[in-house]
Amino acid sequence: MALYVHIPFCVAKCYYCSFHSYAIGRENCVLRGLGQRNSLMERYVKALLKEGEKYSRSEYLAGKSFDSLYIGGGTPTCLTGGQLYLLLASLRELFGIPPEAEITVEANPGTLDSGMLRKLREGGCNRLSLGVQSFDSRELKALGRIHQVSDVYNTFNEARREGFANINIDLMYGLPGQDLRQWAANLKEGVELRPEHISLYQLSLEENTPFYDLLQKGLLAEFAEDTAAEMYSLAQGYLAANGYGHYEISNYAKSGWESVHNKKYWKYKEYLGLGSGATGFLDGNRYTNYGDIHAYCDAVIADKRPVEAEEIIDTRTAMAEMIFMGLRLKQGVSKKDFAERFTERIEDIFGETIQRLKAKGLLEESTSHVFLSEKAIPLASIVFIEFLP
Ligand code: SF4
Repeated sequence: MALYVHIPFCVAKCYYCSFHSYAIGRENCVLRGLGQRNSLMERYVKALLKEGEKYSRSEYLAGKSFDSLYIGGGTPTCLTGGQLYLLLASLRELFGIPPEAEITVEANPGTLDSGMLRKLREGGCNRLSLGVQSFDSRELKALGRIHQVSDVYNTFNEARREGFANINIDLMYGLPGQDLRQWAANLKEGVELRPEHISLYQLSLEENTPFYDLLQKGLLAEFAEDTAAEMYSLAQGYLAANGYGHYEISNYAKSGWESVHNKKYWKYKEYLGLGSGATGFLDGNRYTNYGDIHAYCDAVIADKRPVEAEEIIDTRTAMAEMIFMGLRLKQGVSKKDFAERFTERIEDIFGETIQRLKAKGLLEESTSHVFLSEKAIPLASIVFIEFLP
């Protein structure tokens, strides 16, 4: 199983961000220092540990083993090194997570220094995921990111010195005014760092963000889809030529460094989610915790479940979800895993749909897997819809 922990704090909100996070303010953040220490964060860490402790004693999780822990956000490195150490060490002990499990912490360049990196390592963190986004200072500024390009190199090199052998970098494309040449330059800088893993995301203009307001006012345009497609295919070719396998729609890795944690989602495994706004999927039940951080802390401290919404996923929906999550992987959906999970063959449930999509050249099939064809990758969402009940 996988364990996800959400830290809903950021130094400032990026202009495109619709993720669940609170801005703590640039003036309060000790950049390159020991992170932020305030009573809300201390209360939050206590609540997280209490929520974790309760789940660790649950009957359902007894005997289950975890091989991945992911602390994401937000910006987890807004917490202090000491708080992150406490979280890592305590959660690993509560859930019996072994040192060889994949233990990731997300971080923004410029919010951590060697002291914090050391604390992460001492807590057992063995993978860092850095929100780099761009190597162009104008692009970073336009996105509202808090870091400078120099922070990326400093943080990355510092992490290597502290012994991080597994680093992911996130990069974004389809930025306002960005052209193919600028995107190619970002990819080149990213590859030259030689991270083990690279995630690429196209900027999307989400509601309730400053970018969306600009879109509504006609001051920002949607990015041209054909240019975005060219950027995607440029990345595919460039990263393949530099030894990065394209193992999932948005993810590339050197051989053997694919993300264990994210593969759990794509393979439709169960996962436990802790924290405000976190989602979990246990025993066919998908739940989401209170997004309001105070409501979350109050509920946990009062010994109540901090769940805002939950849904029992019926078998037919679960089958469809397993397919469209699995189709995100280059390898596709395993027929054996599907049969083991549902005691029915994928061909018996979706045979007609699979054949129709194969005839259109959108799906391919081997004896063990069903997967997207090369041409269907940019059209993945159209294919996914075909499997919905
Ligand atoms: S750092 Fe990430 S989570 Fe925080 S505001 Fe920016 S995009 Fe959102």
